Amino acid sequence: MSSPSKTDIRALSLIELTEAITAMGEKAFRAKQVYEWLWSKGARSFDDMTNLSVALRAQLVNRFAINHIHIDEEQKSNDGTIKNAVKLFDGRVVESVLIPTDTRITACISSQVGCSLDCTFCATARLKRMRNLNPDEIYDQVVAIRHQAEQYFDRPLTNIVLMGMGEPLLNYNNVLAAIEKITSPQGLGMSPRRITLSTVGITKMIRKLADDGVKFKLAVSLHSAIDEKRSKLMPINDSNTLEELIDSLLYWYDKTGSRVTFEYVVWRGINDGEEDIRALVRLCKKLPCKVNIIEYNPIDDGMYQQADRARVDAYIFALEKAGITAVVRRSRGKDIDAACGQLANKNLSVV
Ligand code: SAH
Repeated sequence: MSSPSKTDIRALSLIELTEAITAMGEKAFRAKQVYEWLWSKGARSFDDMTNLSVALRAQLVNRFAINHIHIDEEQKSNDGTIKNAVKLFDGRVVESVLIPTDTRITACISSQVGCSLDCTFCATARLKRMRNLNPDEIYDQVVAIRHQAEQYFDRPLTNIVLMGMGEPLLNYNNVLAAIEKITSPQGLGMSPRRITLSTVGITKMIRKLADDGVKFKLAVSLHSAIDEKRSKLMPINDSNTLEELIDSLLYWYDKTGSRVTFEYVVWRGINDGEEDIRALVRLCKKLPCKVNIIEYNPIDDGMYQQADRARVDAYIFALEKAGITAVVRRSRGKDIDAACGQLANKNLSVV
């Protein structure tokens, strides 16, 4: 059931919900029951809430909507990856991805419709930002993938990465509210240590995360350790320079004790030179971190190409020699445009 005109009931905290329900002349414990239906039991309509009176259900229907997401299309890759077109209550569409490996099933989820950052190599950037996702829309993506993990793989969902569409730190409150629900026993009860938030590096918000004492992991899309180059690849670097980024990450480490992961793509002729490698090693020596070298997933215009294998090896060699953990991440779901940076609602006309 969805309606843009009624209040989304899952936008309410338990306290707000209790106020609304007691104002309807009901006892406070009814709010708890409704809350449980909405979050841990994943009710899609008020009629599902069988332990409530018919009268209360009718009042709830009049006042509120349950803006549940709807999986419009599932695309399956030949490596097992599943890409979902996720339809929102207002008709907008985002994408989420289930990534299976031998030991894990990971949900890659979106935090915004489109993205306001103009990273030159990313397909989502072409969409521009249309709106933030609500906490329940982020939460529902996890619930849906959890269900697919059971249904198609007979295994539980083990990890979550906020690496889909959008910049999670530019939708800070809703992302944190969703993670709160995903990790709380009243929600999905997942461990925060199995959740990774990936950001372009909004330094003010990295400090806020540290101050807020979050328990999940942090990844930063770096792609170059040279300011000039990084600014060309990721314009956000103009206002959030590498020096400020390092400072904010040292602050993060100081408060959380958690090492950051840098995500790094190596492009031919762009950042595959010796000076690029030296700059990255120098940067990594400044703080506890590890490096994931991710394979480039081409987007339409062919402006960038994946660097040669030897250059990637040169990166790994230099990082390891300096005592920095570095791994090469193979791309998944490429054949269905489900890999990093390829999420752009390609197969859909309505976005
Ligand atoms: N806005 C966040 C999360 C979304 S992108 C962020 O930037 O971190 C998730 C990851 O995919 C980022 O590391 C991003 O730099 C990377 N990425 C974007 N486009 C890519 C592409 N075409 N090939 C490989 N990785 C890409």
